[in-house]
Amino acid sequence: MTSVARWLLVLACVLAWTSPPASAQNACKTCAGSGLAPCRPCAKQRCTNEHEVLFCSLARCKACGGTQLAPCKCAAPAKLDLAAKRAALEAWRTKLPAEVAEFMGREIAVAESAHFVLVWDVPKVDHKRGTDLHGALHLYLDRLEEFHTRFRADTDSKESDFSSKTLAMVWAREADQEKASPKWTLQPSNTESKLMGRAPVFSVFYDKGHMHEEYELHQALVHQASHCLLSNVHNGIWSGNIKGGWVDEGLAHWYENELFDGVRHYCYVEADTLVDFKFGKWEAGVRRALDGGKLPSIFTFTGLHTTEMTPPQRMFAWALVDYLLRGPKKCYGAFARAAKEKKPFGEACQAILGKSAIELERDWHAWLAENYSAEPSKR
Ligand SMILES: [Zn+2]
Ligand SMILES: [Zn+2]
Ligand SMILES: [Zn+2]
Ligand SMILES: [Zn+2]
Repeated sequence: MTSVARWLLVLACVLAWTSPPASAQNACKTCAGSGLAPCRPCAKQRCTNEHEVLFCSLARCKACGGTQLAPCKCAAPAKLDLAAKRAALEAWRTKLPAEVAEFMGREIAVAESAHFVLVWDVPKVDHKRGTDLHGALHLYLDRLEEFHTRFRADTDSKESDFSSKTLAMVWAREADQEKASPKWTLQPSNTESKLMGRAPVFSVFYDKGHMHEEYELHQALVHQASHCLLSNVHNGIWSGNIKGGWVDEGLAHWYENELFDGVRHYCYVEADTLVDFKFGKWEAGVRRALDGGKLPSIFTFTGLHTTEMTPPQRMFAWALVDYLLRGPKKCYGAFARAAKEKKPFGEACQAILGKSAIELERDWHAWLAENYSAEPSKR
């Protein structure tokens, strides 16, 4: 996005919640009647977000107080209370950014958007927007926001179905992950860890020994964000320890296959070891099981905790989630909600589809036969 486009976006955000009279919009080309112009002294260190950012700890220009805005030369009355925005930024800095700095013993970048707070400590990533830490921070916050939009659509959820933002932390050093994970995710880890439920958090060490390409970090964040959002939505209850592991792990894997090139992440909640086994392209595996009569009964993997699921059961859970998301009746969201409400799988089938689990299983097998290939494929 060019700086002009970005300025127009900022302006659109400002104007969205103000309503300038039509005549004022023609008044000034710089501010379109908003009375606000980009702050010049911080023109070179501006936030490079494409989605709205509410706060950024790296926006610390003395002239504008980090608002990145200044009164427009045309002297039209400002449509945003800049002093109030400045004070809000100031107050925000004394909360999580200060808490993180104190605990970690140095300042760490933090930015907040509509649905995420991102604590970011990776100096740069291999992407044109990530050539420095500030750019990389906004690239990843934008990606998380894009994922949230996608997640809401796939799970038929509304904004109001979430009780809080997800706190995401990304570290460049293993020692920082080890220090931060027990404090914020309540789970010691030197790889990836998460705290699910009403105020979800995940923390990831960008281990380049495991994540060779830049998109693998993106993939790790999508996998963890999928768990966090699913645990938070509707009722703040994680389905993974109330026999709904299949909706939880199945969806996280589904995003890996749908948005990236196969499954890399397996969550073991107790040990939380990221085991890099069998890089997954699962479609052919499922098809071969179907053809060989080895597809397990749907009941064997839809009533387990996440930790009880074997790798093959995760693969079959993925294929069932795939059917519920891409099959004739898109109803994954309803099944996820049922699992989060501890509804037995058979009961959920009746309530959602008016069918027994056996009938659903028959439909699923027919759909797999039609849609999955035994040849190596993209999925
Ligand atoms: Zn103006
Ligand atoms: Zn910023
Ligand atoms: Zn400034
Ligand atoms: Zn997982």
